[in-house]
Amino acid sequence: MTIGDVLIIGGGLHGCSAALHLARRGLKPVILERDWPGRHASGVNAGGVRTLLRDPAEIPLALAARRMWHAIGELVDDDCGYKTVGQVAIAENDAEYDRLKARAGTVRQLGFDHEELIDRAALRSMVPSLARHCVGGLAVREDGFASPYHTSLAFRRKALALGARLFEGAEAERIDRVGENWRIEAGARTFEAPVLVNAAGAWAGEWAARLGDTVSFRHILPMMMVSERVPPLVEPVVIASGRPLSLKQMPNGTVIMGGGYLGFGDLRTGRNRTDFNGLQKSAATVAELFPALRGARIVRSWAGFEGRMADDIPVIGPSAAAPDAFHAFGFSGHGFQLAPIVGRILADLIATGETDLPIRPFSANRFAA
Ligand SMILES: Cc1cc2nc3c(=O)[nH]c(=O)nc-3n(C[C@H](O)[C@H](O)[C@H](O)COP(=O)(O)OP(=O)(O)OC[C@H]3O[C@@H](n4cnc5c(N)ncnc54)[C@H](O)[C@@H]3O)c2cc1C
Repeated sequence: MTIGDVLIIGGGLHGCSAALHLARRGLKPVILERDWPGRHASGVNAGGVRTLLRDPAEIPLALAARRMWHAIGELVDDDCGYKTVGQVAIAENDAEYDRLKARAGTVRQLGFDHEELIDRAALRSMVPSLARHCVGGLAVREDGFASPYHTSLAFRRKALALGARLFEGAEAERIDRVGENWRIEAGARTFEAPVLVNAAGAWAGEWAARLGDTVSFRHILPMMMVSERVPPLVEPVVIASGRPLSLKQMPNGTVIMGGGYLGFGDLRTGRNRTDFNGLQKSAATVAELFPALRGARIVRSWAGFEGRMADDIPVIGPSAAAPDAFHAFGFSGHGFQLAPIVGRILADLIATGETDLPIRPFSANRFAA
């Protein structure tokens, strides 16, 4: 039997981030990972590090996470491929521009000033390759992107260096409360610890239900495409505000495209596939917005499992039903950026019972109400 201070189900970025922060506090976390860290959403996402257009409840966490991204090397001894290139949501017509303007006003009223409304000329100078019909946008110049698999490995490596233990190929199957401890059986192995963290990504809804929490959760499979290398085209990450698209160019010249269209997958086997209809629609949007990319070859496409909540914000914090159990799941397509701070929040909660960040909107029992 393996005994630790905290058992973490899931070795994605959130499981590894929680382990890293727990280990920094001197606790002994044990990560159970069915496959390997970065195998699912954490390793295959678009790498967007975005505070732009966050749900208001997420803004304080996203801004705190951004400060950590700007100094990510201090946290994990690795730059994670992170680049502060900015992100911009574009308006293709006046109605979209008015919506972005209203959004900027709402965010300002809430006391935040990180989102900047930009006019046609400012957008043109930020993204000269963008189609001429775009009328303006909403930008955050301190946002950026990182390399997802690289980041997953960096968090894993640092968590282990600080003393966390990771069991790959260990699928948590059975969970029991034994005295003051949680006991998990994974194949022939047994693990025990007084505290449990559910960071099982697209599989986390099932664990929340087993712990007695009623959450409105489903799994989705966002899709991505990458182009061949093309000459320098775009520096910031570009998001369409009126239709699904996010696009960024990597330092090697390839262009990563995604946003909105979903593939298919089987949670039980972990297998998934893309939907060519959706990919075709994404490609058509790219061709309209970036004329220079017409004719560029797509070299690969993929989909990844992700957990999505009915209200599109995650569950972060203690279980409402089970003692000494904590959740971090349901990131609804934007949990990569939040990973550095959510791990710290969980470690704070577990070690001290409190956190300095406002996590009430992410409670596990909000759906029961
Ligand atoms: C295609 C795509 C694009 C995205 N783009 C962005 C983006 O640009 N920016 C952004 O912020 N976010 C983005 N996201 C979302 C982001 O990737 C996720 O929110 C985040 O990675 C979730 O991390 P996680 O650790 O919770 O989940 P995962 O990375 O899925 O990790 C969960 C782990 O739990 C393991 N597991 C499950 N069940 C068990 C079990 N029973 N026992 C042991 N282990 C188990 C799984 O094998 C998995 O490795 C995107 C997601 C996808 C799929």
